[in-house]
Amino acid sequence: PLINTLEEAGYEAYFVGGSVRDVLLKRRIHDVDIATSAYPEEVKAIFEKTVDIGIEHGTVLVLAEDSQYEITTFRTEDVYVDYRRPSGVTFVRCLEEDLLRRDFTINAFALAEDGQIIDKFDGLTDLENKLIRAVGVADERFNEDALRIMRALRFSASLDFDIEEKTFEAMKVHAPLLEKISIERSFIELDKLLTSDYWRKGLRNFIDSKAYNHLTGLVGKEAQLENVLKNIKSDYFWFTTSEQAWAYLLINLEVENCKDFLKKWNVSNEFTKKVTNIYEAYKIALERVWEVKDLYKYGFDAFMYAEGLLEAEERDIDTSLLPQLTMKLPIKSKSELNINGQVLMNHFNRKGGIWIGQIISEVEELVVNGQLENNQDAILEYVE
Ligand code: ATP
Repeated sequence: PLINTLEEAGYEAYFVGGSVRDVLLKRRIHDVDIATSAYPEEVKAIFEKTVDIGIEHGTVLVLAEDSQYEITTFRTEDVYVDYRRPSGVTFVRCLEEDLLRRDFTINAFALAEDGQIIDKFDGLTDLENKLIRAVGVADERFNEDALRIMRALRFSASLDFDIEEKTFEAMKVHAPLLEKISIERSFIELDKLLTSDYWRKGLRNFIDSKAYNHLTGLVGKEAQLENVLKNIKSDYFWFTTSEQAWAYLLINLEVENCKDFLKKWNVSNEFTKKVTNIYEAYKIALERVWEVKDLYKYGFDAFMYAEGLLEAEERDIDTSLLPQLTMKLPIKSKSELNINGQVLMNHFNRKGGIWIGQIISEVEELVVNGQLENNQDAILEYVE
C-alpha cells in the first residue's frame, strides 16, 4: 500500500535491496526497503506518521498500521572518502542512477507493485548461477568502499554463492584497504559470515581473498585458519552462537589472550567475557576429549562438551560423566539442530537442574542397550 500511495501522489516507488533478492530466492525476508523518486520532505508530506532516521541520506521511516518501512529517495553518491563512505549524497528522480550505486547485481533489483522485476545488470542470471558479481567495474567498487569485500564474503556464506572471477580478483587486489576502514564494521560482517549456514564457503573465500591477512591480528596465521576447516569434519556442523564461532576461531588461531585480541575489534565486554569463557572451557574440553574415541571429528560434540563443562562448573556437578557426552542424533540441517537443542534444553529445564549431558548419556545408554531405537524420531519422542 505504501508504494501505491507514493504512486498516487505522482512519484515512482519500488521495493529494492536485499528483500527483493530474498523474495526471488524464496528466502525469509526481514527488512523491506522502498526507494522512491519523492524527496524526503515530499515523503513526509504524504504520510501521517514518519520518523527522520537518516534524512541526510534520504531515508524516512514510515509507521504503517502493520509495520514500519524505510523509504529512501533515489540517490547517487558523491566522491568516496576513507575507502568507505561517500562525502555526501545527491537525490535524484531516476531509479537507474540509484541502482548503479549498489554493490552486487543480486542486490540491485527493483520490484514494482505489479510484480515486475527491474533488472538492469543481469542479476537474474547471476541468481540462477549462484554468483556474486559487482555492479559496474569491480576494481572501482571495492576501491570506493572496501567494506564491500567483507559483504561479498558474507553473502557467499549466507547464500551459498560463489564470487564471480573478476569480482574475486578485484577483492584480492583491494584487500589491503580493509586495514584502513573501521574494524567494527568488518567484525559485524565476519560475525555474520561465521554464523551463516555456509560458513565453510565463506571462510574458504575469506582465506583465499587474502581479506583475513589484512584484518588486525590475523596476519600470518593461514595454516591455523585452515585448521578451522580441517578440524570440523562433519558437514552438519554450524555454530549456534556467535560467541561459539569466535571462541573456535581463536582456539585455532592459537590466540594466547582472548581479551587482548578482542579489544582490537572494539566488541563489548560482555561479548568478550562470553567468548573467553567458552574458549577456556573448550581448551579444557579439547584436552579431555581424546578420551572419547572419535569425538573431535564431530566439532559439535566438542562444543556440547565445552558448554557442559561450563554448566557443570556453575552447578557444582560432578564432571566424571563428561567423557560420555557424545551427541549422536542424526542431524541433517541447521534448523533440526536448533530444534533438537531446544527439545533437550526444555527437558533439562523441566527436570530442574539435571544437566543436559546426563540426559544425553542416559539416552545413549538406552540406545547401546537396545532399549531405544537409534533414530532421531525415537530419541526425540523419548526425551520429550
Ligand atoms: P541483509 O539484509 O540480508 O543483510 P541486504 O542486501 O539487505 O542484506 P543491507 O545492508 O540491508 O543488506 O543493504 C540494503 C541494500 O543497500 C543492499 O541490498 C544494497 O543494494 C545496498 N547496499 C548496502 N550496503 C552497500 C554498500 N556498502 N555498497 C553498495 N550498496 C550497498
